[in-house]
Amino acid sequence: MNVTWGDATDVGRVRRNNQDYLYADGRLFVVADGMGGANGGEVASKLAVEGFVSRAAGAPDGRALKSAVAGANEDVFREGQAHNELAGMGTTLVAAVVYDEPEAPRVLVLNVGDSRGYILHDSDLTQITEDHSWVGELLRAGKLSPQEAEISVSRHMLTRVVGVAGDLEPDMWEIRPRPGDKILLCSDGITNELADPEIGAVLMGGADAKSMAEELVRRAVEAGGLDNATAVVIDFGPPEPEDVPAPLQIARTELPVPRTAVPAAPVTFTRQPAFSRGPDLMQIPQPLSRSNFTKAGTVLRILAFLAALALVIGIGVYGITNYVRGSYFVGVSNNRIAIYQGRPGGLLWFAPHLVAVRNLRLSDLPSAYASELRNGVSEPSFAAASKYISNLQAQSLQFSQASPRTTSTTTTTAKSGAG
Ligand code: MG
Repeated sequence: MNVTWGDATDVGRVRRNNQDYLYADGRLFVVADGMGGANGGEVASKLAVEGFVSRAAGAPDGRALKSAVAGANEDVFREGQAHNELAGMGTTLVAAVVYDEPEAPRVLVLNVGDSRGYILHDSDLTQITEDHSWVGELLRAGKLSPQEAEISVSRHMLTRVVGVAGDLEPDMWEIRPRPGDKILLCSDGITNELADPEIGAVLMGGADAKSMAEELVRRAVEAGGLDNATAVVIDFGPPEPEDVPAPLQIARTELPVPRTAVPAAPVTFTRQPAFSRGPDLMQIPQPLSRSNFTKAGTVLRILAFLAALALVIGIGVYGITNYVRGSYFVGVSNNRIAIYQGRPGGLLWFAPHLVAVRNLRLSDLPSAYASELRNGVSEPSFAAASKYISNLQAQSLQFSQASPRTTSTTTTTAKSGAG
């Protein structure tokens, strides 16, 4: 069978570094998605892939491949222990190893974490691997629907990672691909952006493995590019015309966990369940905390929240500014009647702004107006405020004609009126 392959990777639109790492040589294919502060993610994914490839190159069987994963786990763990700034780094790993056999090739697929392996067979896309994530575990336990899983905030919490704990057990599958089949290995930067039907369409429509890998990465970046995106496509040649359709041959391979030299539970990462676990959930592995990893999901959620908050505040400020700028009131400035822009007494950080002073004194007006004007009389516009003052002027004229300008006389008049 003529096996061809192609790969592509992109940093995406948001992250500064590409922490994904890939390898492909026609027999061994690997994708790793690293996590860790400083440049820990990049170091972890590269170390894990190189550690795996160097050991898997001549590996005769699945047992040897599992040992290769265990060795890679040890490499990453030791490097993290040796350098403070790399402590707690880890990585996902998904690998496909092609064994050429007389009738048809045999492919072993191994995974740790949430990077995935898929196979396209007879126009059907099947996810080979299971995600080692908290949400993935709940989904398989029937505690979460696929719809809930898609929007869960715990999507990025992994339950298995290369490099953070001893005795790491990868899952393994054996596949007998047929001509026309394609296997895809990819990081979650692809699967978080593209739904399975779109991935299947790309694998069915591309001219060759390289262009399919590039198209998947291009679409993931275009759809958002929130994370590094990496794809490796293995093409098992064109379907043979006389080929009779056959069901997909895929089987999970159980092998004992290889012992590693890494001590069990060596790293002090906080175990952090997303919510309280009832007895029925106790069989589900605890998620590894990502507090010591900088995974795009969490950072981006925080950024998105801050952006939304800034927008709300921006709209609020804009609204209040417009409201204040469109408000006028008639008040008093140095005993003269004046027009202010703003709200009487001010609103938040907007102090009233004096825009006009009229030639009318507060003392020229009936005393009943005094407290009202000192507090400010709101008017919907500058013109309305001016009109209000014109009315006051008319009142003041009547007031001065009707009564002599002494308080005592006014008081006397009032008293006599009352008496
Ligand atoms: Mg990723």
